[in-house]
Amino acid sequence: MAKIKKLSPHLADLIAAGEVVERPGSVIKELTENSIDAGADAITIEIKNGGLTYMRVTDNGSGMSPEDAETAFLRHATSKLSREEQLEAIETLGFRGEALAATAAVSRIELMTREQGSDTGTRLYLDGGAVMERGPAGCPEGTTMIVRDLFFNTPARLKFMKTDRAEGAFVTAVAVRCALSHPEVSVKYIKDGKEEFHTPGDNRRESCIYSIFGREFALGLIPAATDDGTVKVEGYISAPKDARGNRNNQFFFVNGRCVKSKLLQTALEQGYKNNLFTGRFPSCVMYIEMKPGLVDVNVHPAKTDVKFLNERQVFDGVYYATLSALGASGEAPIPNVSEGTKAAVKTHAAEGGFYKGAAVPKKDFFVTKPTYSGDYKAPVQENRPVQQDLFRDGYSAPYRTNPEKRAELPRWSEKETGPAIPEQPDYRFIGEAMDTYILAERDGELLVIDKHAAHERMIFDRLKAGGREVMSQPLIVPVICRMSGDAVQTVLDGLELLEPLGYEIDAFGDDSIAVRAVPADTDAGDIPGHMEELAEILASAGKQGLEAAKEEILHSVACKAAIKAGKPTSRKELEVILEKVAAGEIKYCPHGRPVAVTFTKEELDKRFKRT
Ligand code: ADP
Ligand code: MG
Repeated sequence: MAKIKKLSPHLADLIAAGEVVERPGSVIKELTENSIDAGADAITIEIKNGGLTYMRVTDNGSGMSPEDAETAFLRHATSKLSREEQLEAIETLGFRGEALAATAAVSRIELMTREQGSDTGTRLYLDGGAVMERGPAGCPEGTTMIVRDLFFNTPARLKFMKTDRAEGAFVTAVAVRCALSHPEVSVKYIKDGKEEFHTPGDNRRESCIYSIFGREFALGLIPAATDDGTVKVEGYISAPKDARGNRNNQFFFVNGRCVKSKLLQTALEQGYKNNLFTGRFPSCVMYIEMKPGLVDVNVHPAKTDVKFLNERQVFDGVYYATLSALGASGEAPIPNVSEGTKAAVKTHAAEGGFYKGAAVPKKDFFVTKPTYSGDYKAPVQENRPVQQDLFRDGYSAPYRTNPEKRAELPRWSEKETGPAIPEQPDYRFIGEAMDTYILAERDGELLVIDKHAAHERMIFDRLKAGGREVMSQPLIVPVICRMSGDAVQTVLDGLELLEPLGYEIDAFGDDSIAVRAVPADTDAGDIPGHMEELAEILASAGKQGLEAAKEEILHSVACKAAIKAGKPTSRKELEVILEKVAAGEIKYCPHGRPVAVTFTKEELDKRFKRT
């Protein structure tokens, strides 16, 4: 006969571990949150082998007394709550007192901790949750947790782990989120012996972003912000040209917590509508603040769900922050605005309700795309230099002309209706401006072409069609590129995709590759950066296979092989590009930016006040 039995505490911990400890990244998340709760302002996160064999989190927080150090590993042990009234706080803040117990149950943990102001520290060693060693230890103030051999005693779970590389990437994402959500804390992240990033902890988001993602990414960002008095949005978005093949660099923080949200993602991407090539995604680091009662951040340890009381309002905050940032920076055409909307915008802004009055159809944005793009004009910045002004306006010219005008410009209108060539005279080549723009004219129209963008598109299209536009160029001295062992392997695995494009690459020791040939016209100085980029693209395609990476690889190759802005180009080459653009064969660069803009005579006359 069956007998009811009470689960042993160890078994209960194992069950809890199943919920809380999903993979190495979830352990890192719990440990870093504990460090932050302990008031640390410097945290070091280190992992080896994707975290499966080794994870370490060291902080300079409060530390623990010898007694607390041991209690911390008991199930439902938490110093953060004691009374029942705080139950709500358990739900909102996620103090369940089970993370350490659950982790300890499925790993080997070494804890070294010393309370602030105390003379000696404590060392504990636990194996599968059981304390094997305890004693005093000399260690700095604060806490170090080392978690080894995760899931060593639960082989079924171990089997579900992905490759070290995939688990490591997940830990990296956790470390990045932790650092971005706490710019006031200095976070150092070391992976397989290599320091990946180290934030200064100066409480400035910009320096945090810079130290994580590097100079190029940080300098390409555009500040974005809105505030309607209820929902405050602040952060940075990427320029359309810096779009990526995935959404890995979209970070949203709601009241300081990193969340994943289809709503926020859609709002951001709608802001870029018509400015991005299909399959390309913008990056962002956006901080959204509102009263705690207006948002429900599900704090289940493994989830980052979020529910908003007023979804439309939050959507609008992110959408308009994006739209106005792109408009103000001159990175995107600003849609036309009806006078009525302008008035509505002004009134509502004056009432403290930021743009909430803009006529927005109450459609579900998950199903139907919102149509506000035509109803909003970003505030125009004052004091822009005249020349920039010209190009900014020019940039959006094809979109701004009225619909009848647009019909006359089928060659570079955004409608992909094929090259319907109208009865028009050919363009006359005028010359090149700033080593960057091709100038040409025909009846009452000035054409300005971004030579790099246009050439990039030409190469991309031919590569995609399977042609060999880019010839291979052997390097007399191979370029040796140092990269992580993972990246070396990734590039080698991707050779079947790279070789037909003109690359010759082989391994050079464990942590380098030798590049012996590249597509013609690639600058040797660009090669190391380009290899990193290719490795990143190949790695993020990962399991989906090489095919998934192909499009983005072609983007990258086309970009590197295309003629460069700021460097002189022969007239002959420029004329070939002009011909292609004039024939309507290319309209957008592979990143979705227009390759050419036109100024009509009327537009120029107006600028010179001739009318
Ligand atoms: P919770 O964080 O929900 O309280 P945990 O199992 O994560 O539960 O941690 C249990 C307790 O251990 C904490 O409440 C805290 O008192 C203590 N603790 C854990 N990590 C640290 C740390 N890095 N520094 C100081 N105390 C810590
Ligand atoms: Mg905790």
